[in-house]
Amino acid sequence: TTLLIVTSFLSTAGHLGAPVHSGALITSHNVSSLDITSKIHTDHDTTTEASSDFGHIVEATPDGVFRPTFPADIAALIRLSLSQPTAPFTVAPRGKGHSSRGQALAAGGIVVDMSALGGRGHRTTVSVDGMFVDAGGEQLWIDVLHAALEHGLAPRVWTDYLRITVGGTLSNAGIGGQAFRHGPQISNVHELDVVTGTGEMITCSPEVNPALFFAALGGLGQFGVITRARIGLEPAPKRVKWIRLAYSDVHTFTTDQELLISKRASGSGFDYIEGQVQLNRTLMEGRRSSSFFSASDIARLTGLAIETGSAVIYYIEGAMYYDDNTATSVDQKLDALLEELSFVRGFVFVRDASYVEFLDRVGREEQNLRSAGAWDVPHPWLNLFVPRSRILDFDAAVFKGILRDTNPIGLILMYPMNKDKWDDRMTAVTPDEDVFYAVGLLRSAVAGGSDVEQLERENAAVLELCDLAGGIGCRQYLPHHASRDGWRRHFGAKWGRVAELKARYDPRAILSPGQGIFPPPL
Ligand code: FAD
Repeated sequence: TTLLIVTSFLSTAGHLGAPVHSGALITSHNVSSLDITSKIHTDHDTTTEASSDFGHIVEATPDGVFRPTFPADIAALIRLSLSQPTAPFTVAPRGKGHSSRGQALAAGGIVVDMSALGGRGHRTTVSVDGMFVDAGGEQLWIDVLHAALEHGLAPRVWTDYLRITVGGTLSNAGIGGQAFRHGPQISNVHELDVVTGTGEMITCSPEVNPALFFAALGGLGQFGVITRARIGLEPAPKRVKWIRLAYSDVHTFTTDQELLISKRASGSGFDYIEGQVQLNRTLMEGRRSSSFFSASDIARLTGLAIETGSAVIYYIEGAMYYDDNTATSVDQKLDALLEELSFVRGFVFVRDASYVEFLDRVGREEQNLRSAGAWDVPHPWLNLFVPRSRILDFDAAVFKGILRDTNPIGLILMYPMNKDKWDDRMTAVTPDEDVFYAVGLLRSAVAGGSDVEQLERENAAVLELCDLAGGIGCRQYLPHHASRDGWRRHFGAKWGRVAELKARYDPRAILSPGQGIFPPPL
């Protein structure tokens, strides 16, 4: 097991130097002098903490947790693994461990606690002239936001929740309501520093080492550890008109969503577009207010469901940015946009928020859920990309079929994105249509709601519907597949390339074993 490494490392420590292609955050460092073993923690509390994740579905105990001081330490750890006389040990970078299915775990291997690199906010440098931020892979997006705002700038695309890491979201895609216009977070990266599974530290971009750059973006941690990302910035807005519009009919809802995502020029339409699905039982039996809706709003929405006999109420969530110069015209622009839409008349809910309040909305929800004891609970989440041509079939079969009588405590998201904002050279996969929907079944198993087994049965039924011959043809986002065949189908035409890149950048298959894509080293 990994514990063997301690003695073997001491005898090989002089031979761990790796080629360093210096990037902004890579400090030139004498790797051979590092005492890697002293940074591996094997105490019970530490390994237990690294044995599970936000999902609380999978458990896997590592032999140790590595706390690097510099990116070069990670390279040294990987080279140490590769120098083992028998099989190498696996190495899993762990950002915030906010995966749902054990993706950042490493049974019997070493988990790299990425937060040890430099501390919060310290490895974030903004270039005002270049309009980019260099952020350590371990940095939380909330800290990147605050660092950029000091210069009046901000990244263009956000996940709904900001207390997750740059490296963690870029290993998936990083999607949110701005992606229809700017693409996912991985489409907004100029350069990366990556420590590969061969222990090399490589700076890459679309021009330099492009194969590694495109592999790592959406690469599920399979090709290297991202230790720095250069992310494009835009001038930050000050405030936001934050809107929800209710619909009782899916066809009208999706038609309006698609109209809104076709308004792609900056300054036209909304700057952020998402959508949610409220099943009838959630409205009737769920929380009586939320951080957006007051108790009387929820009562009105419940009344709408009863009055229209609709099994489901949908709402578009939009945001229109404004600042001092546009403060007087934003209401007019909003009114003109609303005129073009067909939500149920009168069912428009508007809040005015600062840009940060808006972006950090799930952070506030986290505080509420934590105080209610409903944060550290099982989250058998299922995220899918559904082709536009099948979204109405999906709605009928899932929201009005499989989930009709469920008791979902949590959230169901549904919003469209434009495929041409995704770069097909990246490892991330999407359906092959110009527009596809992100659908997130973000449900929690809490006392008084459905249990994990019930939610998992429903997830399995949804996946079966997607996979059946002639089925909906969804792709999983934040994917989980139990078999190699499942992964082959997931990557589709990209599978051959993924396997090739793996053989090149992590030939012993030591990185991020919790994804379960490639068999662990023997
Ligand atoms: P971890 O769970 O720690 O790691 C994820 C995977 O990436 C693992 O395989 C890990 O080994 C690997 N990894 C971690 N760091 C690195 C690195 N530096 N280099 C290479 N590989 C690495 N996602 C969205 O796209 N949009 C959303 O709106 C969104 N909202 C969310 C809301 C909540 C409340 C939660 C819990 C998650 C949400 N997510 C969303 C999902 C989230 O983006 C992913 O789960 C992401 O992986 C979490 O980041 P993390 O830092 O916790 O990664």
